[in-house]
Amino acid sequence: MTNSLNIAKFGGTSVATYEAMENCARIVVANKATRIVVVSAQAGVTNHLVSMAHTPLTSEQIETTCQAIVDIERAVLDKLADKDSVAGKLDDLFDELRGLAFHEEILHRDDLKDQLLSMGERMSSLLFSAVLAEQSVPTLNFDVRKVLRTDDVYGEAAPQLEDIATLATRLLRPEIERAIVVTQGFVGADSQGKTTTLGRGGSDFTAALLAEALDGDTCEIWTDVTGVYTTDPRIVSAAYPLPELSFEEAAEMATFGAKVLHPATMEPALRKDIKVFVGSSKAPEKGGTWIMRNCEHEPPYRAITRRKEQVMVTVKTPKMMYAQGFLQQVFAIIAKHKLSVDLVTTSEISVSFTLDNPANSVAQRLNKATLAELETICDVTVEHGFDLVTVVGNHMQTAKGVSSKIFAAVHDYNLRMICFGANPHNMSFLVNHQNSDDIVQKLHRELFE
Ligand code: ADP
Ligand code: ASP
Ligand code: MG
Repeated sequence: MTNSLNIAKFGGTSVATYEAMENCARIVVANKATRIVVVSAQAGVTNHLVSMAHTPLTSEQIETTCQAIVDIERAVLDKLADKDSVAGKLDDLFDELRGLAFHEEILHRDDLKDQLLSMGERMSSLLFSAVLAEQSVPTLNFDVRKVLRTDDVYGEAAPQLEDIATLATRLLRPEIERAIVVTQGFVGADSQGKTTTLGRGGSDFTAALLAEALDGDTCEIWTDVTGVYTTDPRIVSAAYPLPELSFEEAAEMATFGAKVLHPATMEPALRKDIKVFVGSSKAPEKGGTWIMRNCEHEPPYRAITRRKEQVMVTVKTPKMMYAQGFLQQVFAIIAKHKLSVDLVTTSEISVSFTLDNPANSVAQRLNKATLAELETICDVTVEHGFDLVTVVGNHMQTAKGVSSKIFAAVHDYNLRMICFGANPHNMSFLVNHQNSDDIVQKLHRELFE
């Protein structure tokens, strides 16, 4: 066994089938430093769970949805050489799944919703540990809730770093000495032991948090693309993988919509200087992207990201010219309701800001209570139908000609808001949703092709 420690995370498509899991198992075994494996739910499973947790369903619909999940899990079980060691445990999880789905439908409790959402990872980690064991290595399925302590904001729980470090050192460290530990991404538990979740796509964050807690050297994010690309290859077919990225660039990309990394993934990596690799579990031989503190090159343009479903809120008061505390009041309300604002512009009598409001997010961000409270101090207008396009790079505010090249590329389009100058790594525009594919494509052509 080497002394270095790697944490490998496999996303939903990487563990979608038995064969996909076999690819992942080979990747795990090939790197002797890998002692912890973090898995997502199998592709589609969390979406099924979210639909049960967040939409009113009939008993029949719940049954059908549970069955769809069971079918995905059973397809893997059926291919295991030694089904018996897992079948009983999987059946227990199916019972828990059905029980929770019906229970939640009646009680609508947030803690039950998170318990329900956690089932995907709990099932996939059980199955993956069995697939990994077929590679003749000692494996162990570990319940991440023993160490991944969070607050109790169900649906978007925040990790408690000190507790995680203490618990992981006490409970997880001894296990990795004797086996490769397979555990769940996305899932945590609060101080009362109730199950929580970290927000959609949160398994990347789990991997980075465990790497931080155990002083890992590297963290691998294995997914369905061969690294982080110049932009989402689903929008631009000419996008290409980047061999290297700095922590800051990757953090900007993740925050501004590069779905390949959960927005918070880079925080632990940056704190502990842990190198992060992103690659394809289907084609590990093709390499991928290394994300690290110091890159060899710091180009002005590195990548373009797009985040959909943005909401623009404009608050306006004729009294603003005189009321110096207005901005402070607006932001106090935003902070109280835990909204995270991205872009802000101000004029003499109004302030506009944008919020991320994706339909499939676990928590509804812009809710009636927030609007009602804002309306007590000003007029509020809410506009939907926007996307946020961001160019990520380096030294952007000090390099000459950076903005003119970007503006030239998008001159045909209406930009509703522009944000530039607050940090050297990005320039963001709020654009109409129907133009955002074109804008990303055009920018990509001008800046990268
Ligand atoms: P996983 O299930 O493995 O976590 P995700 O679907 O969350 O995978 O993330 C991978 C997807 O992220 C890719 O299929 C790709 O469409 C999308 N993506 C968005 N932006 C980028 C980018 N800049 N580079 C690579 N992939 C990106
Ligand atoms: N299974 C969770 C989701 O689909 C977490 C993840 O895949 O990272 O959002
Ligand atoms: Mg993901």
